[in-house]
Amino acid sequence: MRYLIISDIHANLAALNAVIADAGTFDRIWCLGDLTGYGPDPNECLDRLREFPLTSLAGNHDWAVLGKLNLEEFNRDARAACLWTRQQLTAANHAFLAALPVLVKEEGYTLVHASPSEPVEEYVLDALTAEYNFSHFDTPVCLLGHSHWPVAFMQPEDATGLCVQVRAPYFQPFKFNGGKWIINPGSVGQPRDGNPDASYAILEVEEGQWEYRRVAYPVEETQRKMRHHRLPLRLIERLTHGH
Ligand code: ZN
Repeated sequence: MRYLIISDIHANLAALNAVIADAGTFDRIWCLGDLTGYGPDPNECLDRLREFPLTSLAGNHDWAVLGKLNLEEFNRDARAACLWTRQQLTAANHAFLAALPVLVKEEGYTLVHASPSEPVEEYVLDALTAEYNFSHFDTPVCLLGHSHWPVAFMQPEDATGLCVQVRAPYFQPFKFNGGKWIINPGSVGQPRDGNPDASYAILEVEEGQWEYRRVAYPVEETQRKMRHHRLPLRLIERLTHGH
């Protein structure tokens, strides 16, 4: 079974559509949270995702939109986008978001938005944080999002057991052979690694085969809608540079 792995769409429909078109055929979507926040198309993105067989988690922005997370934890721009999103969301999409879990185990994989130890809020961006988190899940692989960086960490089975960051190439499938893995597909709707292209992955679930991918999307289309809705300028500009 071929799964489309996405995270941090952040209401960016142009990016989501580019990813879906680029992915080819797939059997199911695993979405690792933050469907909303920042971007101009919260309802359109939720409607689009719901066209497919889908397992989705809630992220911290989704929780903030729902009022489950204190908005004081957000910076001014994120807060403004969140308050705008609250006004836009249809009742049906509000109910859909409210029903999303923050951690799921499916097909022998652990799925979480932020980290296994802190499912909604911790960033796993370095080997030390990853190391700590390896003891908080019991499947061979944990998929997570939240940082908007496509990063992978591996804890080998050898005696050292020391976690290493793995530099996984794009467009070259590789297998989760041995050891334990924490892997992030990067962000669809607001990449932060200096590359503005939407980031995602394809996972052959039974084989444990992962492929990182990037695809360009019409950034200006999303930016135009953000300007129209008077979303914060900094959020509009960062999409140009992918940071
Ligand atoms: Zn996010």
